[in-house]
Amino acid sequence: MSKDERGRATRRGQPYLEEPEAKPFWANLQEHKLTQQRCSSCKKMFGFPPQALCPHCLALEFEWVPLSGKGKIYSHIAYHRAWIPSYQDKIPYNVSLVDLDEGGRLLSNVVDCPPEDVKIGMAVEVVYEDSPEYTLPKFRRIK
Ligand SMILES: [Zn+2]
Repeated sequence: MSKDERGRATRRGQPYLEEPEAKPFWANLQEHKLTQQRCSSCKKMFGFPPQALCPHCLALEFEWVPLSGKGKIYSHIAYHRAWIPSYQDKIPYNVSLVDLDEGGRLLSNVVDCPPEDVKIGMAVEVVYEDSPEYTLPKFRRIK
């Protein structure tokens, strides 16, 4: 990774797309489908990040199920300083924990919304941020 004179990363971090447990998650996102693992045995949702076995009953069988993409803000923070130079053009920006309607909690950003307008409990829905290599799930306010 390239670094500036102070040793800070000059490029944004990228997701590791080849992790076996998470590979279907990233592939589904590229088709603009937000999905989560559901246990084939106890039928409970796994949560995030993707895992090799059910966190509830330890079963190894699961399926990827599509989510509504809707949820509510559980918590959020606003960044007004770019601790990594590559984020200089993004400040101020928020980092938010989103509780999905189906039960998972995702770390993401609310886009198209000033950080001071992001509120706990605010209803949001997924939007997809495409890049050549991968797609990220971001969120926007439901008005
Ligand atoms: Zn289970």
